Order: sequence, then structure tokens, then C-alpha cells
Amino acid sequence: MSDELFKKVVSHAKEYGFVFPSSEIYDGLGAVYDYGQNGAELKNNLRQYWWKAMVQMHENVVGIDAAIFMHPKTWKASGHIDGFSDPMIDNKDSKKRYRADNLLEDKIARYQKDGKTNKAEELQVALDQALLDNNLVQLKSLIELHEIACPISGTRNWTDVRQFNLMFSTEMGAMAEDADKIYLRPETAQGIFVNFLNVQKTGRMKIPFGIAQTGKAFRNEIIARQFIMRMREFEQMEMQFFIRPGTQKEWYEHWKTARMKWHHKLGFGENMYRFHNHVKLAHYADAAVDIEFNFPFGFKEMEGIHSRTDFDLRNHQEYSGKKIQYFDAELDENGKAYGNYIPYVIETSIGLDRLFLATLCACYREEEIGTENNKDSRVVLNLPPILAPYKVAILPLMKKDGLPDVAREIMQELKLEYNCFYEEKDAIGKRYRRQDAIGTPYCITIDHQTLEDKTVTIRYRDTMQQERIAISRLKEILASEISWARLLA
Ligand code: ATP
Repeated sequence: MSDELFKKVVSHAKEYGFVFPSSEIYDGLGAVYDYGQNGAELKNNLRQYWWKAMVQMHENVVGIDAAIFMHPKTWKASGHIDGFSDPMIDNKDSKKRYRADNLLEDKIARYQKDGKTNKAEELQVALDQALLDNNLVQLKSLIELHEIACPISGTRNWTDVRQFNLMFSTEMGAMAEDADKIYLRPETAQGIFVNFLNVQKTGRMKIPFGIAQTGKAFRNEIIARQFIMRMREFEQMEMQFFIRPGTQKEWYEHWKTARMKWHHKLGFGENMYRFHNHVKLAHYADAAVDIEFNFPFGFKEMEGIHSRTDFDLRNHQEYSGKKIQYFDAELDENGKAYGNYIPYVIETSIGLDRLFLATLCACYREEEIGTENNKDSRVVLNLPPILAPYKVAILPLMKKDGLPDVAREIMQELKLEYNCFYEEKDAIGKRYRRQDAIGTPYCITIDHQTLEDKTVTIRYRDTMQQERIAISRLKEILASEISWARLLA
């Protein structure tokens, strides 16, 4: 059932201009996608929801927009050149490449499905330990011990497990000889760390404070699967919150609660989310938790919250030779100033594309409608109105008798504040269905009565109810329904 829902969501996304495979006329590019006319609007609105909640609603959080290209030393300092890799294994017969940990995770899931709980638990413990120790030989022996075969060739003819760095590299500079190897950033966070002093000084920021940004990140994922869940080019929305050393536990808890609340506000159902604590901590973290969403293919990570200690700032200080410290003039309980220190960091990091996918999956509905004798069905995207690509569709009932002129006048007024869709072709029922499918919450129909008494029909997407109202009341009704306050207050 869930597989079916996922397939439907993927094809709906394509059919209604939300997401297309990248360069599709050339048969696409692996795990790279383009957002279409409706997808770009929805994505933009989701980004705004995050930005407003994280930046505008917090006096002590500011936003920046750092470049994708960064000095190559950045990635040495951050540990990405040495440590940002996944364990990879090839099947010699099918020539297919896999992530060794994924093969083992799939086996654990199969054990669980078959009721072999003990075996599943035993393998999970062994896998966690091998990953923690970065023990590639142990990963290979687990694959052999549990008789894992290649899903394509069916054989167990495997290569050794090797580390595969996930960063894309390119060259900067005109001449090949003196060109420098640089990387496409694998996370947006480092653009924040290297700007810590710039922002702190020019913004006269006092700890605790945060720096946020949204932007593209690139990872050469070994295998990319599940549509926009795992892409090679994706967008992150990250916030680094700089704090006094020693206060990381309380701020970690604070942001865990705040971020979960932000997700719940979307109204997709609180049971759709759960926390998942990390056993294997990334090289920079002293605590880490994921917020997982119940996708049609199961609970998977949507956002990570990490207590990153002073790892990044300390390393940037060392590699750049520039002092990256904060002077804290506030007095402690002994009446002494806290003085100079390298701040600790709590990070919240969410993938915009995964949030987009969660939104589509949670809002996609197929409904039986109509009467006993006249059965019908519709697909509706039940999006929170403020997130919908179009807020209002303006639909003159006919293409004549001056109805389009009145419709255009209404459009002119409303489009200053709302993204409006105008359409005069096809029967009205068909037009309503198309708006339902892209999640437009309000349709306004202009008919002959409009010419007589200056009223229109407003149709509500979710209830399909229609109401006759004066044109003069339109703005007031829409303003009460379409508001950021519903998500942010
Ligand atoms: P995963 O374990 O799923 O690979 P991660 O733990 O490596 O994710 P982080 O480095 O914590 O991910 O990145 C923060 C967020 O960025 C993730 O929670 C996810 O929403 C998003 N993200 C990471 N990798 C991808 C990807 N390849 N495609 C889309 N989104 C991604």
C-alpha cells in the first residue's frame, strides 16, 4: 500500500509540474532533479517557513548567504577531506556498486520481517561497532558471514570494502597547470563557521546567538534512491547556534524541542515524527539526534540536530592561523568575566528536498466524491494554504459577456498579495480538479450574477463548499485564511 502511495506521489509530482528528472530529454542524470513551475513555488514557500521561523522570529539569529566554492583548506580543517566517506563494495559479476552498510541494514530488515529478531539485533550491534571503529575488514566479513548476495547477479563474489569520499571536486583557475583543486560544498555549515567573526563583529552579536543559511550542497552519493530523498545535488537549511562551553546540554535540548514543534505546526500529524538518537557520532559531534519522518517507505531522517562542540571553530583557527574567539564580558557567579573562549555550537540541519517530499506524501489524498448515482473521484493536495503554490485561482465561468474583464480586474487587485492562477478554458468542474491537484486552497468563480450584483463564488478546496460573497469582501476573507501567523504564532 505504502509503496503504491509513493509511486503515486512520484508520478503526481511529475504530471503536475512539481519535480522533473534533470535533463530528462537526455534520459536524466542520476539522482539529480529539477523543480517545475509548481514545485519551485512550494519549495520557496517551505524555505520561507524555515527562514521566518529561524531568523525573523529570533532576535538573536541572523541569516547569511555564503558562496558554494570555498578555500580548499576549509575542508581539510572541517575533516571532510579525511573523513567524509562511505564504505563501498562492488559485486564482481554484476559490476554493481553498493554501500556496505546499506547491504547489512537491508539484511537486518529482512531478518526482522522473517521474525528472526535475535539475528537482527546481533547484526545491528556488530554493524554499529564496525562503523564506529571504521573497520572495513569487519564490514566485509559481516557481509560474508550473513551470506548477502548481490540483488542483481545473485552471487556473493564481492570486492573488498573501500572508503569512498563523497565530495565532488573541480578546478579553479584558467590554466590547467596552476589550477587549484576545489570542492563543491558537501554541507552549508562551513560557510557559517568561516564567517563567525565577520557576523559576530559587524552584527555586534552576543552569545548565545545563531547564524542561519539555506543553500545547495553536493554529495556524490554511492547509490541514490527514493526519488528526491537522496540526491547528489540538494538544498540544506542550517543554523549554527553559538554558546558558552558547558551549556551545550541545555541548548541541545532546547533546539530539539523547538525543531520538533516547528514540524508539528505543519499539521501532518504528530505521530508522523520521531527522534532517533545516534549511536555512531560524526567526527565533530558530542551528541546527535535525527528527527525522522514516516515516509511511505518507513521512518527516515529528515533533520539532524548536532552538538558540534568547538570542533569546527577550533580547527579553522588552527588551519587559518587567525584567532577565532569571543570575548564574553558577562560576569559569572564569582563576579569574574567569562573572558575569551572558542564558542561551542548546536547545529540544526534540515534537507529542504526531504521536507518537500514529506509535504507531498503527507498532503496527497485520493477522494471518492459525487453522489450515489454520479460517482466521481479527485486527487487533492491538502497543503497548508500559506504553502500552496497558488493561493487563489480566478475562473470566469465563460469566455464571453465581459466575464473575463471582471475576472482580470479581481486578479489585478489580488495578485499584489497572493500568487494567483488565471484560467478560462474548459468546464468549471475540470478546472476545479486541476486546482485541487496542485493544492490551490481557494477558487473564485465569476459568472453572470457577478455583473448584476458584484458577487462571486468562492470554493474551498478541502470541503469543496461554495459560498456567494461580495467582491469587496474577498481580501478580508483571504487575509484571515492565508497567513504565516498560523504556522509561526
Ligand atoms: P543520511 O544519513 O540520510 O545520508 P546525513 O546524516 O548524512 O543523512 P546530514 O549530513 O546530517 O545528513 O545532513 C543534514 C540533512 O541534509 C539531512 O537530515 C537530510 O535532510 C539532508 N540530506 C543529507 N544528504 C542528502 C541527500 N543526499 N539528498 C537530500 N537530502 C540530504
